[in-house]
Order: sequence, then C-alpha cells, then structure tokens
Amino acid sequence: MTVSAEKFQKARITFRKDHTEELWSIRVRPEHTIPFKPGQYGTLGIEEEGKIVERAYSICSSPHEDEVEFFFELVRIGRLTPPLYHRQAGDLLLMRHNAKGVFTLDGKSGHRQHLLICTVTGIAPYVSMARMLTHEARQGRPVDARLVVLHAASHSWEFAYREELDALAREFPWLTYIPLVSRPWEDLEWKGEVGRVEDVLRKYSDELGLEPQDTTVYLCGHPQMIENAKGILRRRGFAKEFIREEVYWVPKKEAG
Ligand SMILES: Cc1cc2nc3c(=O)[nH]c(=O)nc-3n(C[C@H](O)[C@H](O)[C@H](O)COP(=O)(O)OP(=O)(O)OC[C@H]3O[C@@H](n4cnc5c(N)ncnc54)[C@H](O)[C@@H]3O)c2cc1C
Repeated sequence: MTVSAEKFQKARITFRKDHTEELWSIRVRPEHTIPFKPGQYGTLGIEEEGKIVERAYSICSSPHEDEVEFFFELVRIGRLTPPLYHRQAGDLLLMRHNAKGVFTLDGKSGHRQHLLICTVTGIAPYVSMARMLTHEARQGRPVDARLVVLHAASHSWEFAYREELDALAREFPWLTYIPLVSRPWEDLEWKGEVGRVEDVLRKYSDELGLEPQDTTVYLCGHPQMIENAKGILRRRGFAKEFIREEVYWVPKKEAG
C-alpha cells in the first residue's frame, strides 16, 4: 500500500510520556481534526519502504481537546509498536482521517449505569469517556450516567491514568475507579484490590448494585479476560446485547 492522501494525513507528536519501559502515551496534532465519540479508535501508521504499517488505537482524549491522545503497550515481536516506540515529540506519524468503532457509551437502552472493565491499555476509551463527562460537568451540564471502571494489570505501575481517574472519582460522584493488581507478590507496596477481573467481577457488580436490568458492561483489552468475563456476566444474567467488547488482539493458536 502506498501513502494515500485520501486516507491518511500527517499527525505530529506534540508530547510523549513514558509510564514504564513498555507503556507510553503520546499526544498528536493532526493536520485536520478528526471527529470522534469517546470509545472510538484512530488508525495510526508509519511508512516503511513505501508501504504503510497501520494499527488501531483507542483514543484517550476527549472530543473537546484540540490534540488526540493515545496510550500504547510495546509488543516486542510486533510490526508497528517497536518503530512507534522510537518516535518522539516533534516526529510525524500517519493517521487515517476517520475515527471508527462502536465501543461507545450506550445511549439507547436507557441504562444509566456503565460497568467499564479493562486490562492495562484497555483503559484508553474509558479515559476518553471520563474526560468527556468531566468536561460536561464543568460546563454546568448534568451528568446522567454512572461509570464504574474496573482496571486490571499485573502491577500497579501499569495504571498509567490512575492519578487522573482517582482525582476525578474524588471530585465526581458519577465515577468509581477500581484498580486491580494480579501479581501483588511482585508489588509489595500495593494496598488496593488484588486478583484478576474474573475473581472480583461478581463481588463488585453485587456490592455496587450493577444489575443486568440497568447496567451496560464494556470489556476492553486482553482477549482471554474478555472471554472469561463474558461467561461470568452471562451467568449473572446480563443479556448479550448489553455486553460490549473491544478485543485488542487475537491470541496465536497454541502449538499442537
Ligand atoms: C479497536 C482496537 C483498539 C486498540 N487500541 C489499542 C490501544 O489503545 N493501545 C494499544 O497498545 N493497543 C491497542 N490495540 C492493539 C493494536 O492495534 C496493535 O494490535 C498492537 O499495538 C500490536 O501491534 P504490533 O504491530 O506491534 O504487533 P503485531 O505485529 O500486530 O502483533 C504481533 C503478535 O503479538 C500479538 N499481540 C498484539 N498485541 C498484543 C498485546 N498487547 N499483548 C500481547 N500480544 C499482543 C499479536 O496477536 C501477534 O501475534 C487496539 C486494537 C484494536 C483492534
């Protein structure tokens, strides 16, 4: 594929923040703004020998921000993330003109409650949703939604947006943020919730009154977490149409 101006525009990296050796965020300024809804993804690419390598990335920023933010995990054997990892503020990337995706807040069912579950970088669409509602609230508009975010990772240092989400959760009653560490023996300072999504999902949906008749659930990130969580939610009575998913990659089939 050659670079097509019809499909792609240039986007300059204006800011980069490294969270760990394998997790980083960037903000980009595209030539033309891309309209999007929180939960949608942009497509980023780089040109290699006249061809474009492109991948989908959920947008972290809110539509009202004038730059677009992304949160990445380095996949060492991957095609795009290793060269992307070397791009710094000032460098250019390619970006498709249109954002895509249907992993947006459910506005049709009448559900007020949204249970947002993710692993590591899967927090990106939920950051965008929280930032949008924060913007609305600060404009004096009523927020008629409740977001409960359950964020799983191996270690607490992978919760790149924890400080921001904790602060918003303290400020706004419509947001609850629960980070969850699955390897606490490697993270001795961690005092919060431990386990995997599968271990605590039932407990939090019961304790926080997230009932199938008034809650839509969103699952984002690791394919195995999504499969396991879907099973638990179905057994808890959630109908298929109220469980949305954004699978970030397809696991390789086990040899043999
Ligand atoms: C809608 C959508 C939104 C996405 N949003 C984000 C996002 O916000 N941030 C983000 O970092 N990624 C996101 N992804 C994943 C992203 O599109 C790429 O798949 C990822 O960055 C790896 O690209 P790569 O070219 O480096 O690896 P590839 O060359 O595509 O993959 C190499 C191998 O690694 C596996 N793999 C891919 N990703 C992972 C992973 N994270 N962990 C373990 N194995 C993996 C692949 O299955 C493959 O076997 C999203 C994917 C989708 C479909």
